Amino acid sequence: MRIETSRALHPVAQAMIDGAGELGIPTIADPNAETNEGAAPSNFNISGGKRWSSVTGYLAPIFDNPRLTILCNSQAGGLMVENGAIVGVRHLVERQPIETRATTQVVLAAGAIDTPRLLMLSGIGDPMELASLGIETRHALPGVGKNLQDHPLVQAVVCRSKQPMGPALDNGGGSMINWKSRPDLAQPDIHAFPVQGNSSEPRIRELYDLSGNVFSIGAGLMHSKSIGHVKMLSSDPFGPLDIQPNYLAEPSDLDALIVAVETMMDLAETRVFSDLFDGFAAPSRRLSKPEMIDFIRQGCSTFFHPVGTAKMGSDEMAVVDARLRLRGLTGLTIADASVIPIIPTCNTHAPVTMIGERAADFLLGAA
Ligand SMILES: Cc1cc2nc3c(=O)[nH]c(=O)nc-3n(C[C@H](O)[C@H](O)[C@H](O)COP(=O)(O)OP(=O)(O)OC[C@H]3O[C@@H](n4cnc5c(N)ncnc54)[C@H](O)[C@@H]3O)c2cc1C
Repeated sequence: MRIETSRALHPVAQAMIDGAGELGIPTIADPNAETNEGAAPSNFNISGGKRWSSVTGYLAPIFDNPRLTILCNSQAGGLMVENGAIVGVRHLVERQPIETRATTQVVLAAGAIDTPRLLMLSGIGDPMELASLGIETRHALPGVGKNLQDHPLVQAVVCRSKQPMGPALDNGGGSMINWKSRPDLAQPDIHAFPVQGNSSEPRIRELYDLSGNVFSIGAGLMHSKSIGHVKMLSSDPFGPLDIQPNYLAEPSDLDALIVAVETMMDLAETRVFSDLFDGFAAPSRRLSKPEMIDFIRQGCSTFFHPVGTAKMGSDEMAVVDARLRLRGLTGLTIADASVIPIIPTCNTHAPVTMIGERAADFLLGAA
């Protein structure tokens, strides 16, 4: 089946969909419909021909509301903790430190890297870790900064092209494939997409000759199990962090990625790619298993989906409760990717938007 889309796909994006069919991977019209298993044109956040963001969706309509104040270039450096409650935020305005007190609640949404940093800067975290940084513990929550999860992405299978790629369409991609690395899985765990050019990691660029006309296929793992951490290396609010996602630490993550990369090499060799595919550039040939593991390690990148560092739950490592409230202190709601306890098997923008919506519901309901 050939998908009829409202837009013409780039030849590489169309070949991804048609080639998947040759490998027995079904074609689906919409990966956001009832099943995401199969090959499909990518969806984009576009409205009226323009990129649509959270700012355009949520903030722009209320820019004129007198109850909204937006401070640009204002970096938060910590939360104000008084008598068992979060009562405000310490931040810089025009490089001057000021304290802003909340009338009802503080909502922290600094993302999976900076939310745990702000909690730790405020003395909320693992007492041993805080002590090693010289930060006084105000509230012990050992799960802060633990449980970092992300989706690894191998960048990339790079193929020589018989033709120039031409102007980039659809943000340089245009289609995607979701499928199972093992038939016994309940849902697809692999996500792959084309790139109309060279999308390889710097190390792959060093190791292989990628000159001339090339296209790439990135393949990554959406059901990753490896777990890492975010740690502060000093008590400086602007200081460096130790961000350790521990990619590929779980052997099952590596096994799935081997299947992913080999399947993408099979895809490039399907009949529908014959007008495009002119041999492999990276890896430059089929690899043995040890060689493939090395290639995956050299090309391992990320989908940029960090989550989990202030996880929701009720166990001792949980940081927020089921209503996104910080456990043990009043006055703080966390509404970002850090609260996700187990990384979802999908891109993370939509789940995080849902978390923001739920936080608003909880706050308004409580009010
Ligand atoms: C390059 C890239 C590509 C991505 N592509 C996709 C995609 O195609 N599809 C998809 O679903 N997801 C994608 N994601 C993931 C998605 O963007 C994230 O999951 C999502 O933005 C997380 O939302 P968040 O609110 O947790 O954090 P963020 O969106 O990171 O928001 C945190 C905000 O807090 C601010 N902040 C942090 N610290 C401070 C501080 N101390 N003081 C003041 N402000 C602070 C930051 O500037 C930022 O604006 C991508 C991410 C990246 C980086």
